[in-house]
Amino acid sequence: MSTTGHRKDPAYWKAVADSACVELADADALETLAWTARTFGDRWIVASSMQDALLIDLAVRVNPAVDVLFLQTGYHFPETLGTRDAVTVDYPRLRVIDAEPEQSVAEQEAAYGTLHRTDPGRCCQLRKVRPLRRALAGYDAWVTGIRRADAPTRADAPLVSWDERHGLVKVNPIAAWSDERAERYLAERGVLRNPLVAEGYTSIGCAPCTTKPGPDDGPRGGRWAGLGKTECGLHG
Ligand code: SF4
Repeated sequence: MSTTGHRKDPAYWKAVADSACVELADADALETLAWTARTFGDRWIVASSMQDALLIDLAVRVNPAVDVLFLQTGYHFPETLGTRDAVTVDYPRLRVIDAEPEQSVAEQEAAYGTLHRTDPGRCCQLRKVRPLRRALAGYDAWVTGIRRADAPTRADAPLVSWDERHGLVKVNPIAAWSDERAERYLAERGVLRNPLVAEGYTSIGCAPCTTKPGPDDGPRGGRWAGLGKTECGLHG
């Protein structure tokens, strides 16, 4: 399907996403990514939190020079920044796009204090949601590592959808993967992981908002613990 002339047409892309939902109903992750590369050419980007390089490893199998989006919030663990750098060594042809907030951490804290304690929703807006929106403006599709097994809020995540909020197609090629499937892929292919995973962190975000989950918590139980917040606003 040619995309020429349709790049600014949400109705066209929404129809593409709707038909892909049917066409790819039984597709595996690589088939879904191959469809993404065919459909969007070089106008798609893979979002990564740098918890591991599972999604990146899959994506480079269909496009070794794929763009990878990393939200440089300024609050990351050193291990996460190290993983970001190691990705560029393991996959030398890809390009990591660092999406940065308008203010540095020092500027934001001077203006508003430590928002991650007082108003984490606003902090995520300033340091994640707005930079993401700016970065995605140059693409027709983004690929995320959302899995239905991550959390109840993600239980209905579709493989392909029109992302109304950001105005582009959203592809979740591993939406149906179980924890065991993801683990198997990481082990079999020797994929890079953030060293914090081995220390017991099951969902890694910014350092001030991430703790190790307890034995009765879900995989995302260590995110914004005690703040009544479960998502950063990137995924609806
Ligand atoms: Fe701020 Fe925490 Fe959100 Fe990071 S996860 S942007 S530190 S509130």
